[in-house]
Amino acid sequence: MSENTTEVAAERNLNFLEEIIENDLSTGKYKSILTRFPPEPNGYLHIGHAKSICLNFGLAKKYGGKTNLRFDDTNPVKEDTEYVDSIKEDIKWLGFEWANEFYASDYFDQLYLWAEELIKKGLAYVDDQTQEEIRLNRGTVSQPGIESPYRNRSVEENLKLFREMRDGKYADGEKVLRAKIDMAHPNMLFRDPLMYRIIHASHHRTGDKWCIYPMYDYAHGECDSIENITHSICTLEFDVHRPLYDWFIEKLGIFPSHQYEFARLNLTYTVMSKRKLLELVKNNYVDGWDDPRMPTICGIRRRGYTPEAIRMFAEKVGVAKRDNVIDLSLLEWCLRQDLNARANRYMAVLNPVKLIIDNWEEGKVEYFDAPLNPAEPDGPKRKVPFTKELLIEKEDFMEDAPKKYFRLKPDGEVRLKYAYIVKCTSFVKDSEGNITEIHCTYDPDSKPGVGEWRSVKGTIHWVSEKMSDRIEARLYEHLFTEEQMGAIPEGVDYKDYLNPNSLTIVTAYAEPALKDDKSGISVQFERIGYFYRDPKNGAYNKATGLKDSFKI
Ligand code: ATP
Ligand code: MG
Repeated sequence: MSENTTEVAAERNLNFLEEIIENDLSTGKYKSILTRFPPEPNGYLHIGHAKSICLNFGLAKKYGGKTNLRFDDTNPVKEDTEYVDSIKEDIKWLGFEWANEFYASDYFDQLYLWAEELIKKGLAYVDDQTQEEIRLNRGTVSQPGIESPYRNRSVEENLKLFREMRDGKYADGEKVLRAKIDMAHPNMLFRDPLMYRIIHASHHRTGDKWCIYPMYDYAHGECDSIENITHSICTLEFDVHRPLYDWFIEKLGIFPSHQYEFARLNLTYTVMSKRKLLELVKNNYVDGWDDPRMPTICGIRRRGYTPEAIRMFAEKVGVAKRDNVIDLSLLEWCLRQDLNARANRYMAVLNPVKLIIDNWEEGKVEYFDAPLNPAEPDGPKRKVPFTKELLIEKEDFMEDAPKKYFRLKPDGEVRLKYAYIVKCTSFVKDSEGNITEIHCTYDPDSKPGVGEWRSVKGTIHWVSEKMSDRIEARLYEHLFTEEQMGAIPEGVDYKDYLNPNSLTIVTAYAEPALKDDKSGISVQFERIGYFYRDPKNGAYNKATGLKDSFKI
Protein backbone atom coordinates (compact mmCIF):
# COMPACT_ATOMS: atom_id res chain seq x y z
CA MET A 1 0.00 0.00 0.00
CA SER A 2 1.47 3.39 -0.89
CA GLU A 3 2.19 5.94 1.78
CA ASN A 4 -0.39 8.12 0.19
CA THR A 5 -3.21 5.62 0.58
CA THR A 6 -2.22 5.01 4.19
CA GLU A 7 -2.35 8.72 4.94
CA VAL A 8 -5.75 9.05 3.35
CA ALA A 9 -6.93 6.00 5.29
CA ALA A 10 -5.69 7.48 8.56
CA GLU A 11 -7.50 10.71 7.83
CA ARG A 12 -10.70 8.84 7.20
CA ASN A 13 -10.18 6.86 10.35
CA LEU A 14 -10.19 3.48 8.64
CA ASN A 15 -9.13 0.42 10.56
CA PHE A 16 -6.49 -1.82 9.06
CA LEU A 17 -9.06 -4.25 7.64
CA GLU A 18 -10.94 -1.44 5.93
CA GLU A 19 -7.66 -0.22 4.48
CA ILE A 20 -6.89 -3.65 3.09
CA ILE A 21 -10.36 -4.08 1.65
CA GLU A 22 -10.44 -0.64 0.05
CA ASN A 23 -7.08 -1.37 -1.49
CA ASP A 24 -8.21 -4.77 -2.79
CA LEU A 25 -11.30 -3.23 -4.34
CA SER A 26 -9.54 -0.23 -5.85
CA THR A 27 -6.76 -2.31 -7.41
CA GLY A 28 -9.37 -4.65 -8.85
CA LYS A 29 -8.06 -7.65 -6.92
CA TYR A 30 -11.67 -8.41 -6.06
CA LYS A 31 -14.86 -7.07 -7.59
CA SER A 32 -16.70 -7.58 -4.35
CA ILE A 33 -15.83 -9.00 -0.98
CA LEU A 34 -17.11 -12.11 0.73
CA THR A 35 -16.51 -12.69 4.44
CA ARG A 36 -17.67 -15.50 6.70
CA PHE A 37 -18.49 -16.07 10.33
CA PRO A 38 -17.35 -19.61 11.27
CA PRO A 39 -18.66 -20.66 14.69
CA GLU A 40 -18.12 -24.14 15.98
CA PRO A 41 -21.56 -25.34 17.14
CA ASN A 42 -20.26 -26.49 20.51
CA GLY A 43 -21.68 -23.75 22.71
CA TYR A 44 -23.66 -20.56 22.79
CA LEU A 45 -22.26 -17.37 21.31
CA HIS A 46 -20.80 -14.78 23.64
CA ILE A 47 -20.06 -11.10 23.43
CA GLY A 48 -16.65 -11.88 21.89
CA HIS A 49 -18.40 -13.65 19.04
CA ALA A 50 -20.71 -10.66 18.75
CA LYS A 51 -17.63 -8.55 18.12
CA SER A 52 -16.54 -10.93 15.36
CA ILE A 53 -20.06 -10.99 13.88
CA CYS A 54 -20.30 -7.21 13.82
CA LEU A 55 -16.89 -7.08 12.18
CA ASN A 56 -17.46 -9.72 9.50
CA PHE A 57 -21.00 -8.71 8.64
CA GLY A 58 -20.27 -5.02 9.16
CA LEU A 59 -17.33 -4.95 6.74
CA ALA A 60 -19.25 -6.79 4.04
CA LYS A 61 -22.22 -4.47 4.49
CA LYS A 62 -20.04 -1.37 4.34
CA TYR A 63 -18.39 -2.45 1.09
CA GLY A 64 -21.44 -3.91 -0.64
CA GLY A 65 -20.27 -7.49 -0.13
CA LYS A 66 -21.75 -10.55 1.52
CA THR A 67 -21.15 -12.79 4.50
CA ASN A 68 -21.60 -16.54 4.80
CA LEU A 69 -22.49 -18.28 7.99
CA ARG A 70 -20.41 -21.43 8.11
CA PHE A 71 -20.65 -23.86 10.96
CA ASP A 72 -17.25 -25.28 11.63
CA ASP A 73 -18.59 -28.71 12.53
CA THR A 74 -15.55 -30.90 12.20
CA ASN A 75 -15.65 -32.42 15.67
CA PRO A 76 -18.73 -34.62 16.10
CA VAL A 77 -18.10 -35.24 19.78
CA LYS A 78 -18.78 -31.73 21.01
CA GLU A 79 -21.28 -30.44 18.51
CA ASP A 80 -25.01 -30.32 18.55
CA THR A 81 -27.99 -28.90 16.63
CA GLU A 82 -29.14 -27.15 19.81
CA TYR A 83 -26.13 -24.90 19.37
CA VAL A 84 -26.72 -24.45 15.63
CA ASP A 85 -30.22 -23.11 16.32
CA SER A 86 -29.14 -20.77 19.08
CA ILE A 87 -26.29 -19.37 16.98
CA LYS A 88 -28.65 -18.55 14.12
CA GLU A 89 -31.12 -16.93 16.47
CA ASP A 90 -28.40 -14.79 18.04
CA ILE A 91 -26.99 -13.56 14.73
CA LYS A 92 -30.46 -12.59 13.50
CA TRP A 93 -31.17 -10.86 16.77
CA LEU A 94 -27.97 -8.84 16.39
CA GLY A 95 -29.46 -7.60 13.13
CA PHE A 96 -27.46 -9.43 10.49
CA GLU A 97 -28.39 -11.63 7.56
CA TRP A 98 -26.09 -14.21 6.08
CA ALA A 99 -25.93 -14.81 2.33
CA ASN A 100 -25.60 -18.60 2.73
CA GLU A 101 -25.77 -21.10 5.54
CA PHE A 102 -23.01 -23.63 5.08
CA TYR A 103 -21.40 -26.36 7.13
CA ALA A 104 -17.82 -27.54 6.99
CA SER A 105 -19.39 -31.00 6.93
CA ASP A 106 -20.96 -30.08 3.53
CA TYR A 107 -17.41 -30.28 2.23
CA PHE A 108 -16.29 -33.58 3.76
CA ASP A 109 -16.31 -35.30 0.34
CA GLN A 110 -14.26 -32.58 -1.28
CA LEU A 111 -11.85 -32.39 1.65
CA TYR A 112 -11.39 -36.13 1.47
CA LEU A 113 -10.60 -35.99 -2.26
CA TRP A 114 -8.07 -33.24 -1.67
CA ALA A 115 -6.43 -35.30 1.05
CA GLU A 116 -5.99 -38.14 -1.46
CA GLU A 117 -4.59 -35.61 -3.91
CA LEU A 118 -1.99 -34.52 -1.37
CA ILE A 119 -1.11 -38.17 -0.70
CA LYS A 120 -0.65 -38.70 -4.42
CA LYS A 121 1.62 -35.65 -4.56
CA GLY A 122 3.74 -37.17 -1.79
CA LEU A 123 2.62 -34.43 0.59
CA ALA A 124 0.69 -36.50 3.10
CA TYR A 125 1.15 -39.84 4.87
CA VAL A 126 -0.58 -42.15 7.26
CA ASP A 127 1.14 -42.33 10.64
CA ASP A 128 0.68 -45.21 13.09
CA GLN A 129 2.33 -43.49 16.04
CA THR A 130 0.22 -42.89 19.11
CA GLN A 131 -0.90 -39.39 19.95
CA GLU A 132 1.67 -39.33 22.75
CA GLU A 133 4.51 -40.42 20.45
CA ILE A 134 3.54 -37.79 17.94
CA ARG A 135 3.55 -35.14 20.62
CA LEU A 136 6.94 -36.19 22.00
CA ASN A 137 8.52 -36.48 18.57
CA ARG A 138 7.42 -33.01 17.51
CA GLY A 139 10.47 -31.54 19.29
CA THR A 140 10.57 -28.11 20.85
CA VAL A 141 11.12 -24.58 19.65
CA SER A 142 14.88 -25.06 20.13
CA GLN A 143 15.02 -28.71 19.07
CA PRO A 144 13.97 -30.23 15.76
CA GLY A 145 11.40 -33.00 15.80
CA ILE A 146 12.01 -36.65 15.02
CA GLU A 147 10.62 -38.04 11.80
CA SER A 148 8.03 -40.75 12.14
CA PRO A 149 9.14 -44.25 11.11
CA TYR A 150 6.03 -44.30 8.90
CA ARG A 151 6.87 -41.04 7.15
CA ASN A 152 8.25 -42.57 4.00
CA ARG A 153 5.50 -44.99 3.15
CA SER A 154 4.78 -45.27 -0.56
CA VAL A 155 1.91 -43.34 -2.13
CA GLU A 156 0.12 -46.65 -2.78
CA GLU A 157 0.41 -47.78 0.81
CA ASN A 158 -0.72 -44.39 2.12
CA LEU A 159 -3.73 -44.41 -0.21
CA LYS A 160 -4.68 -47.90 0.84
CA LEU A 161 -4.34 -47.14 4.56
CA PHE A 162 -6.16 -43.82 4.31
CA ARG A 163 -9.06 -45.51 2.49
CA GLU A 164 -9.13 -48.17 5.18
CA MET A 165 -9.23 -45.43 7.81
CA ARG A 166 -12.21 -43.95 6.01
CA ASP A 167 -13.86 -47.36 5.75
CA GLY A 168 -13.73 -47.90 9.49
CA LYS A 169 -11.06 -50.55 9.64
CA TYR A 170 -9.21 -48.90 12.53
CA ALA A 171 -10.09 -47.80 16.01
CA ASP A 172 -9.91 -44.24 17.29
CA GLY A 173 -6.31 -43.11 17.63
CA GLU A 174 -4.84 -46.07 15.76
CA LYS A 175 -3.80 -43.99 12.75
CA VAL A 176 -3.79 -40.38 11.58
CA LEU A 177 -3.16 -38.63 8.30
CA ARG A 178 -0.40 -36.03 8.44
CA ALA A 179 0.92 -33.50 5.98
CA LYS A 180 4.51 -34.19 5.04
CA ILE A 181 6.25 -30.87 5.44
CA ASP A 182 9.31 -30.47 7.66
CA MET A 183 9.96 -31.94 11.10
CA ALA A 184 12.62 -29.30 11.75
CA HIS A 185 10.56 -26.29 10.71
CA PRO A 186 10.89 -23.27 13.05
CA ASN A 187 7.09 -22.94 13.01
CA MET A 188 6.05 -25.96 15.08
CA LEU A 189 2.76 -26.14 13.20
CA PHE A 190 4.72 -27.12 10.08
CA ARG A 191 6.16 -30.23 11.72
CA ASP A 192 3.92 -32.60 9.82
CA PRO A 193 0.57 -31.31 11.10
CA LEU A 194 -2.35 -33.67 11.52
CA MET A 195 -4.93 -33.55 8.75
CA TYR A 196 -7.34 -36.31 9.75
CA ARG A 197 -8.08 -38.30 12.87
CA ILE A 198 -10.33 -41.28 13.46
CA ILE A 199 -13.43 -40.62 15.56
CA HIS A 200 -16.12 -43.28 15.63
CA ALA A 201 -18.95 -40.96 16.57
CA SER A 202 -22.20 -39.89 14.99
CA HIS A 203 -22.12 -36.43 13.51
CA HIS A 204 -25.11 -34.13 13.95
CA ARG A 205 -25.42 -33.79 10.16
CA THR A 206 -23.55 -36.58 8.43
CA GLY A 207 -24.61 -39.27 10.89
CA ASP A 208 -22.39 -42.34 10.62
CA LYS A 209 -21.16 -41.70 7.11
CA TRP A 210 -17.71 -40.72 8.33
CA CYS A 211 -15.40 -42.02 10.98
CA ILE A 212 -12.49 -39.80 9.98
CA TYR A 213 -12.73 -36.08 10.60
CA PRO A 214 -10.49 -33.25 9.29
CA MET A 215 -8.49 -31.05 11.65
CA TYR A 216 -9.07 -27.31 11.84
CA ASP A 217 -5.84 -26.37 10.08
CA TYR A 218 -6.55 -28.65 7.17
CA ALA A 219 -10.23 -27.80 6.85
CA HIS A 220 -10.51 -24.11 7.51
CA GLY A 221 -8.61 -22.64 4.59
CA GLU A 222 -10.09 -25.13 2.16
CA CYS A 223 -13.62 -24.35 3.32
CA ASP A 224 -12.91 -20.64 2.83
CA SER A 225 -11.52 -21.42 -0.59
CA ILE A 226 -14.50 -23.53 -1.67
CA GLU A 227 -16.78 -20.60 -0.87
CA ASN A 228 -14.44 -18.03 -2.53
CA ILE A 229 -14.09 -16.12 0.72
CA THR A 230 -11.95 -13.07 -0.01
CA HIS A 231 -11.18 -11.91 3.54
CA SER A 232 -11.10 -14.59 6.20
CA ILE A 233 -10.98 -12.73 9.49
CA CYS A 234 -10.06 -14.46 12.71
CA THR A 235 -8.51 -13.75 16.07
CA LEU A 236 -4.82 -13.13 16.71
CA GLU A 237 -3.89 -16.52 18.07
CA PHE A 238 -4.32 -17.86 14.55
CA ASP A 239 -1.55 -15.77 13.06
CA VAL A 240 0.93 -18.63 13.44
CA HIS A 241 -1.54 -20.83 11.57
CA ARG A 242 -1.69 -18.50 8.56
CA PRO A 243 1.38 -19.93 6.76
CA LEU A 244 -0.19 -23.37 7.02
CA TYR A 245 -3.52 -22.02 5.79
CA ASP A 246 -1.63 -20.69 2.77
CA TRP A 247 0.41 -23.88 2.34
CA PHE A 248 -2.61 -26.14 1.82
CA ILE A 249 -4.25 -23.68 -0.57
CA GLU A 250 -1.06 -23.32 -2.57
CA LYS A 251 -0.35 -27.05 -2.78
CA LEU A 252 -3.89 -27.72 -3.94
CA GLY A 253 -3.89 -24.77 -6.34
CA ILE A 254 -7.34 -23.62 -5.23
CA PHE A 255 -8.95 -20.20 -4.79
CA PRO A 256 -6.56 -18.11 -2.68
CA SER A 257 -8.59 -16.94 0.29
CA HIS A 258 -6.56 -14.81 2.70
CA GLN A 259 -6.57 -14.82 6.46
CA TYR A 260 -6.33 -11.65 8.56
CA GLU A 261 -6.13 -11.50 12.31
CA PHE A 262 -7.47 -9.04 14.85
CA ALA A 263 -7.31 -8.94 18.65
CA ARG A 264 -9.96 -11.00 20.39
CA LEU A 265 -12.27 -9.21 22.72
CA ASN A 266 -11.56 -9.61 26.42
CA LEU A 267 -13.68 -7.93 29.06
CA THR A 268 -13.00 -7.09 32.68
CA TYR A 269 -14.81 -9.25 35.29
CA THR A 270 -15.62 -11.79 32.58
CA VAL A 271 -14.54 -15.20 31.35
CA MET A 272 -15.26 -15.82 27.73
CA SER A 273 -13.97 -19.27 26.86
CA LYS A 274 -16.74 -21.64 25.88
CA ARG A 275 -15.15 -24.38 27.94
CA LYS A 276 -15.47 -22.28 31.10
CA LEU A 277 -18.95 -21.04 30.26
CA LEU A 278 -20.03 -24.64 29.67
CA GLU A 279 -18.58 -25.60 33.03
CA LEU A 280 -20.53 -22.84 34.79
CA VAL A 281 -23.71 -24.11 33.16
CA LYS A 282 -23.10 -27.83 33.69
CA ASN A 283 -22.25 -27.40 37.37
CA ASN A 284 -25.14 -25.02 38.06
CA TYR A 285 -23.03 -22.05 39.07
CA VAL A 286 -25.45 -20.14 36.87
CA ASP A 287 -28.96 -20.85 35.75
CA GLY A 288 -28.22 -21.96 32.17
CA TRP A 289 -26.52 -20.43 29.13
CA ASP A 290 -29.02 -17.59 29.17
CA ASP A 291 -28.57 -16.66 32.81
CA PRO A 292 -28.60 -12.84 32.75
CA ARG A 293 -25.17 -12.80 34.41
CA MET A 294 -23.57 -14.74 31.56
CA PRO A 295 -21.63 -12.94 28.82
CA THR A 296 -23.49 -15.02 26.24
CA ILE A 297 -25.64 -13.21 23.71
CA CYS A 298 -28.75 -14.99 24.99
CA GLY A 299 -27.74 -14.05 28.55
CA ILE A 300 -27.26 -10.37 27.94
CA ARG A 301 -30.38 -10.30 25.78
CA ARG A 302 -32.33 -11.65 28.77
CA ARG A 303 -30.59 -9.14 30.96
CA GLY A 304 -32.02 -6.33 28.81
CA TYR A 305 -29.27 -5.52 26.35
CA THR A 306 -30.30 -4.36 22.90
CA PRO A 307 -28.70 -5.24 19.56
CA GLU A 308 -28.18 -1.52 19.01
CA ALA A 309 -26.09 -1.27 22.18
CA ILE A 310 -23.98 -4.27 21.25
CA ARG A 311 -23.33 -2.98 17.76
CA MET A 312 -22.38 0.40 19.19
CA PHE A 313 -20.02 -1.36 21.58
CA ALA A 314 -18.36 -3.35 18.78
CA GLU A 315 -17.86 -0.12 16.88
CA LYS A 316 -16.34 1.67 19.88
CA VAL A 317 -14.00 -1.21 20.68
CA GLY A 318 -12.71 -1.01 17.12
CA VAL A 319 -10.24 -3.40 15.56
CA ALA A 320 -6.94 -3.81 17.33
CA LYS A 321 -3.91 -5.81 16.36
CA ARG A 322 -2.77 -6.34 19.90
CA ASP A 323 -4.59 -8.14 22.69
CA ASN A 324 -6.19 -5.92 25.28
CA VAL A 325 -8.90 -5.99 27.92
CA ILE A 326 -11.91 -3.76 27.49
CA ASP A 327 -13.66 -2.20 30.46
CA LEU A 328 -17.03 -3.85 30.98
CA SER A 329 -18.41 -0.43 31.86
CA LEU A 330 -17.99 0.59 28.23
CA LEU A 331 -20.59 -2.02 27.33
CA GLU A 332 -22.89 -0.64 30.02
CA TRP A 333 -22.27 2.88 28.77
CA CYS A 334 -23.40 1.85 25.27
CA LEU A 335 -26.58 0.33 26.68
CA ARG A 336 -27.35 3.51 28.59
CA GLN A 337 -26.79 5.58 25.49
CA ASP A 338 -29.32 3.52 23.62
CA LEU A 339 -31.90 3.16 26.40
CA ASN A 340 -31.70 6.72 27.63
CA ALA A 341 -32.97 7.83 24.24
CA ARG A 342 -35.85 5.42 23.93
CA ALA A 343 -36.74 3.50 27.08
CA ASN A 344 -40.14 4.20 28.61
CA ARG A 345 -40.09 5.56 32.14
CA TYR A 346 -41.98 4.21 35.12
CA MET A 347 -41.73 4.56 38.86
CA ALA A 348 -41.00 1.57 41.04
CA VAL A 349 -39.96 1.36 44.66
CA LEU A 350 -37.45 -1.34 45.51
CA ASN A 351 -37.00 -0.90 49.22
CA PRO A 352 -40.28 0.58 50.45
CA VAL A 353 -41.41 2.50 53.46
CA LYS A 354 -44.96 3.80 53.89
CA LEU A 355 -45.70 7.49 53.39
CA ILE A 356 -49.10 8.68 54.63
CA ILE A 357 -50.57 11.99 53.47
CA ASP A 358 -52.57 13.05 56.52
CA ASN A 359 -54.53 15.83 54.83
CA TRP A 360 -55.56 13.61 51.88
CA GLU A 361 -59.10 12.32 51.88
CA GLU A 362 -59.41 8.60 52.58
CA GLY A 363 -60.26 6.72 49.37
CA LYS A 364 -59.59 9.64 47.03
CA VAL A 365 -57.57 8.87 43.87
CA GLU A 366 -56.03 11.50 41.65
CA TYR A 367 -54.30 10.65 38.40
CA PHE A 368 -51.23 12.47 37.16
CA ASP A 369 -50.10 12.45 33.56
CA ALA A 370 -46.47 11.58 33.12
CA PRO A 371 -44.61 11.28 29.82
CA LEU A 372 -43.41 7.81 28.92
CA ASN A 373 -40.24 9.39 27.64
CA PRO A 374 -39.03 12.77 28.87
CA ALA A 375 -37.31 13.33 25.52
CA GLU A 376 -40.83 13.64 24.11
CA PRO A 377 -42.74 15.73 26.67
CA ASP A 378 -45.72 15.92 24.31
CA GLY A 379 -45.50 12.27 23.37
CA PRO A 380 -47.42 9.36 24.88
CA LYS A 381 -48.32 9.57 28.55
CA ARG A 382 -49.07 7.15 31.31
CA LYS A 383 -51.43 7.82 34.24
CA VAL A 384 -49.98 7.60 37.73
CA PRO A 385 -52.49 7.21 40.58
CA PHE A 386 -51.98 9.21 43.79
CA THR A 387 -53.64 8.02 46.99
CA LYS A 388 -53.46 8.67 50.72
CA GLU A 389 -50.97 5.90 51.38
CA LEU A 390 -47.87 5.81 49.25
CA LEU A 391 -44.55 3.97 49.20
CA ILE A 392 -41.19 5.64 48.86
CA GLU A 393 -37.65 4.29 49.07
CA LYS A 394 -36.31 3.93 52.59
CA GLU A 395 -33.15 5.67 51.39
CA ASP A 396 -35.17 8.75 50.50
CA PHE A 397 -35.94 9.54 54.14
CA MET A 398 -33.41 10.41 56.79
CA GLU A 399 -34.12 11.09 60.42
CA ASP A 400 -30.90 12.94 61.20
CA ALA A 401 -30.13 14.37 57.83
CA PRO A 402 -27.07 16.46 57.03
CA LYS A 403 -27.66 19.93 55.67
CA LYS A 404 -27.14 18.97 52.07
CA TYR A 405 -29.65 16.15 52.16
CA PHE A 406 -32.43 17.28 49.87
CA ARG A 407 -34.73 14.32 50.07
CA LEU A 408 -37.30 13.83 52.82
CA LYS A 409 -36.44 14.65 56.44
CA PRO A 410 -38.42 15.74 59.51
CA ASP A 411 -40.05 19.11 58.78
CA GLY A 412 -38.51 19.03 55.31
CA GLU A 413 -40.23 19.33 51.98
CA VAL A 414 -39.77 17.27 48.85
CA ARG A 415 -41.61 16.97 45.56
CA LEU A 416 -43.17 13.65 44.75
CA LYS A 417 -42.31 13.32 41.11
CA TYR A 418 -45.12 14.44 38.74
CA ALA A 419 -47.28 15.26 41.79
CA TYR A 420 -47.40 17.42 44.91
CA ILE A 421 -44.86 18.83 47.30
CA VAL A 422 -45.20 17.12 50.67
CA LYS A 423 -43.89 18.12 54.08
CA CYS A 424 -42.87 15.56 56.69
CA THR A 425 -44.71 16.06 59.96
CA SER A 426 -43.85 12.91 61.92
CA PHE A 427 -42.72 9.32 61.67
CA VAL A 428 -43.23 6.03 63.50
CA LYS A 429 -40.59 3.52 64.57
CA ASP A 430 -40.99 -0.08 65.62
CA SER A 431 -39.41 -1.54 68.75
CA GLU A 432 -36.17 -2.19 66.86
CA GLY A 433 -35.86 1.37 65.75
CA ASN A 434 -36.87 0.80 62.13
CA ILE A 435 -38.97 3.51 60.59
CA THR A 436 -42.30 1.99 59.59
CA GLU A 437 -44.41 5.01 58.65
CA ILE A 438 -43.77 8.55 57.64
CA HIS A 439 -46.51 11.15 57.94
CA CYS A 440 -46.79 14.15 55.64
CA THR A 441 -49.13 16.90 54.55
CA TYR A 442 -49.37 17.86 50.91
CA ASP A 443 -49.54 21.36 49.50
CA PRO A 444 -52.62 21.54 47.20
CA ASP A 445 -51.16 24.61 45.45
CA SER A 446 -48.09 22.71 44.32
CA LYS A 447 -49.96 20.68 41.74
CA PRO A 448 -47.96 20.69 38.48
CA GLY A 449 -49.47 22.79 35.71
CA VAL A 450 -51.70 24.75 38.09
CA GLY A 451 -50.76 28.26 39.24
CA GLU A 452 -47.16 29.23 39.75
CA TRP A 453 -44.54 26.46 39.88
CA ARG A 454 -42.96 26.22 43.28
CA SER A 455 -39.68 24.45 43.35
CA VAL A 456 -38.03 22.55 46.16
CA LYS A 457 -34.55 21.08 46.08
CA GLY A 458 -35.44 17.42 46.09
CA THR A 459 -37.67 15.23 43.96
CA ILE A 460 -38.26 11.59 44.80
CA HIS A 461 -40.18 8.77 43.15
CA TRP A 462 -43.11 6.98 44.76
CA VAL A 463 -46.01 4.65 44.06
CA SER A 464 -49.49 4.34 45.51
CA GLU A 465 -49.50 1.57 48.06
CA LYS A 466 -52.88 0.16 47.04
CA MET A 467 -52.65 0.91 43.35
CA SER A 468 -49.24 -0.51 42.62
CA ASP A 469 -48.21 -3.98 41.50
CA ARG A 470 -45.83 -6.24 43.28
CA ILE A 471 -43.00 -7.23 41.01
CA GLU A 472 -39.86 -9.24 41.44
CA ALA A 473 -36.72 -7.25 40.73
CA ARG A 474 -33.44 -9.02 40.14
CA LEU A 475 -30.36 -6.99 40.87
CA TYR A 476 -27.02 -8.07 39.49
CA GLU A 477 -23.39 -7.54 40.24
CA HIS A 478 -20.45 -8.80 38.21
CA LEU A 479 -20.33 -12.57 38.01
CA PHE A 480 -16.67 -12.48 39.08
CA THR A 481 -15.00 -10.37 41.72
CA GLU A 482 -11.66 -10.09 39.94
CA GLU A 483 -11.27 -7.38 37.34
CA GLN A 484 -8.56 -9.09 35.29
CA MET A 485 -9.88 -12.63 34.96
CA GLY A 486 -7.36 -13.24 32.19
CA ALA A 487 -4.49 -12.57 34.57
CA ILE A 488 -5.30 -14.86 37.47
CA PRO A 489 -2.27 -16.93 38.45
CA GLU A 490 -1.60 -20.31 36.91
CA GLY A 491 -3.08 -23.10 38.99
CA VAL A 492 -5.75 -20.91 40.60
CA ASP A 493 -9.30 -21.92 39.77
CA TYR A 494 -11.20 -19.10 38.07
CA LYS A 495 -14.31 -20.32 39.93
CA ASP A 496 -12.71 -19.16 43.18
CA TYR A 497 -13.52 -15.67 41.97
CA LEU A 498 -17.25 -16.22 41.52
CA ASN A 499 -19.10 -13.37 43.19
CA PRO A 500 -21.46 -14.73 45.89
CA ASN A 501 -23.52 -11.54 45.59
CA SER A 502 -23.96 -11.56 41.85
CA LEU A 503 -27.73 -11.92 42.20
CA THR A 504 -30.11 -10.33 44.70
CA ILE A 505 -33.84 -10.84 44.38
CA VAL A 506 -36.17 -8.25 45.89
CA THR A 507 -39.90 -7.64 45.93
CA ALA A 508 -40.63 -4.22 44.51
CA TYR A 509 -43.74 -2.13 43.83
CA ALA A 510 -44.38 -0.58 40.46
CA GLU A 511 -46.89 1.92 39.17
CA PRO A 512 -49.77 0.18 37.39
CA ALA A 513 -48.90 1.38 33.87
CA LEU A 514 -45.78 -0.80 33.87
CA LYS A 515 -47.73 -3.97 33.22
CA ASP A 516 -49.14 -2.52 29.97
CA ASP A 517 -45.74 -1.58 28.59
CA LYS A 518 -45.48 -2.75 25.00
CA SER A 519 -42.05 -1.43 24.11
CA GLY A 520 -40.39 -4.86 24.16
CA ILE A 521 -37.16 -3.31 25.43
CA SER A 522 -35.89 -2.39 28.88
CA VAL A 523 -37.76 0.32 30.74
CA GLN A 524 -36.30 2.88 33.07
CA PHE A 525 -37.33 2.76 36.70
CA GLU A 526 -36.89 6.42 37.42
CA ARG A 527 -33.88 7.27 39.55
CA ILE A 528 -32.91 3.57 39.74
CA GLY A 529 -31.90 2.03 36.47
CA TYR A 530 -32.96 0.10 33.41
CA PHE A 531 -34.93 -3.09 33.89
CA TYR A 532 -36.01 -5.72 31.42
CA ARG A 533 -38.99 -7.96 31.89
CA ASP A 534 -37.58 -11.47 31.78
CA PRO A 535 -39.48 -13.39 29.08
CA LYS A 536 -38.94 -16.60 31.02
CA ASN A 537 -40.19 -15.72 34.49
CA GLY A 538 -41.65 -12.22 34.38
CA ALA A 539 -39.11 -10.83 36.85
CA TYR A 540 -37.50 -7.47 36.12
CA ASN A 541 -33.80 -7.88 35.47
CA LYS A 542 -31.69 -4.86 36.19
CA ALA A 543 -29.82 -4.34 32.94
CA THR A 544 -27.75 -1.45 34.21
CA GLY A 545 -27.90 1.52 36.54
CA LEU A 546 -28.27 5.13 35.51
CA LYS A 547 -24.84 6.37 36.42
CA ASP A 548 -21.73 6.00 34.36
CA SER A 549 -18.54 4.78 35.82
CA PHE A 550 -17.03 5.03 32.37
CA LYS A 551 -15.82 8.32 30.99
CA ILE A 552 -15.60 8.41 27.24
P1 ATP B 1 -13.93 -19.98 22.51
O1 ATP B 1 -12.48 -19.74 22.70
O2 ATP B 1 -14.80 -19.12 23.34
O3 ATP B 1 -14.32 -21.41 22.58
P2 ATP B 1 -13.80 -20.15 19.71
O4 ATP B 1 -12.82 -19.30 19.03
O5 ATP B 1 -13.43 -21.57 19.86
O6 ATP B 1 -14.23 -19.47 21.06
P3 ATP B 1 -15.57 -20.34 17.53
O7 ATP B 1 -16.95 -20.84 17.52
O8 ATP B 1 -14.53 -21.12 16.83
O9 ATP B 1 -15.20 -20.12 19.04
O10 ATP B 1 -15.52 -18.84 17.05
C1 ATP B 1 -16.14 -18.35 15.92
C2 ATP B 1 -15.49 -17.06 15.53
O11 ATP B 1 -15.60 -16.10 16.58
C3 ATP B 1 -14.02 -17.25 15.25
O12 ATP B 1 -13.71 -16.57 14.06
C4 ATP B 1 -13.36 -16.65 16.44
O13 ATP B 1 -12.11 -16.13 16.10
C5 ATP B 1 -14.35 -15.56 16.87
N1 ATP B 1 -14.22 -15.28 18.28
C6 ATP B 1 -14.31 -16.14 19.31
N2 ATP B 1 -14.08 -15.55 20.48
C7 ATP B 1 -13.84 -14.24 20.21
C8 ATP B 1 -13.52 -13.09 21.00
N3 ATP B 1 -13.41 -13.16 22.33
N4 ATP B 1 -13.35 -11.91 20.36
C9 ATP B 1 -13.48 -11.83 19.04
N5 ATP B 1 -13.76 -12.87 18.24
C10 ATP B 1 -13.94 -14.06 18.79
MG1 MG C 1 -12.62 -22.08 17.50
